[in-house]
Amino acid sequence: MDLSPYRIAPGEPVRLADRPTEVDGGKTEDELDDLHDANLEALDELQERLFAEGTQSLLVVLQAMDAGGKDSTIGKVFGPLNPQGIRVWSFKKPTEKELSHDFLWRVHRRAPGHGYIGVFNRSHYEDVLVVKVHGLAPPDVIERRYDHIRHFEQILEDGGTTVVKFMLHISKDYQAERLRRRLRRPDKHWKFNPADLDERERWDDYMRCFETALERTSTESAPWYVVPAENRDFRDALVSSIVRETLERMDPQFPAPAFDPAEYPPESIE
Ligand code: ATP
Ligand code: MG
Repeated sequence: MDLSPYRIAPGEPVRLADRPTEVDGGKTEDELDDLHDANLEALDELQERLFAEGTQSLLVVLQAMDAGGKDSTIGKVFGPLNPQGIRVWSFKKPTEKELSHDFLWRVHRRAPGHGYIGVFNRSHYEDVLVVKVHGLAPPDVIERRYDHIRHFEQILEDGGTTVVKFMLHISKDYQAERLRRRLRRPDKHWKFNPADLDERERWDDYMRCFETALERTSTESAPWYVVPAENRDFRDALVSSIVRETLERMDPQFPAPAFDPAEYPPESIE
């Protein structure tokens, strides 16, 4: 699958309205499932190598509007992997204590250590999205955050962490459909938050803030991908393809053994 149409080149102007939200990539549902399954198999081995190597890590950032499918993407792409190697963290509204620090304080401590894949369900990007839409910090403070974020992600990279970022892209109509579904199904009521409707009213503001964030923080080494997220089979296959490609480029290697295997023929163990 060609991943490049979904990648934001550094400095590229982004118009989300021009980007598709529903794509099948010219593949049937079965073909997308097969591709996703093949990716999972490859990811399973790559993750084991990453862990064994213990000198690099991968950070996956997921952002989306409400009902955009972050939870389900995490389940589909990372759920099948060995849970011991995955660190998922969901960023909620900051606590009093978190707010008494700089905005990256709570984020940096959740970055994955060597050998791990970290997954951020929401992230430091909330600090230039919801915070900007609601004016929760002064404009000049928010304005400086794009540089702070680029530098922060560079610090992670310098420490051996590769960063890859996904915006799950849905239309406002699709969000309405998903929210209605939550209301129609009693077993989904727990997922419905009336406050999501206030955010929905600010859809256009959110899109503008996403565009600015994508334009200003997509870099060669920490790229953003805009994932058409309405066809969920395509979404899963695309995300797993990108994570796989990223890990393949990191090329983790099993470490050389700390003993001489010639000295320990397997038959010598009784
Ligand atoms: P769910 O799918 O379960 O609704 P969620 O990620 O929406 O998952 P919630 O607890 O509903 O989880 O929402 C978290 C809320 O916290 C979001 O509205 C988000 O915008 C907000 N939030 C996250 N980070 C910040 C931040 N730095 N400043 C202000 N609000 C934030
Ligand atoms: Mg929510």
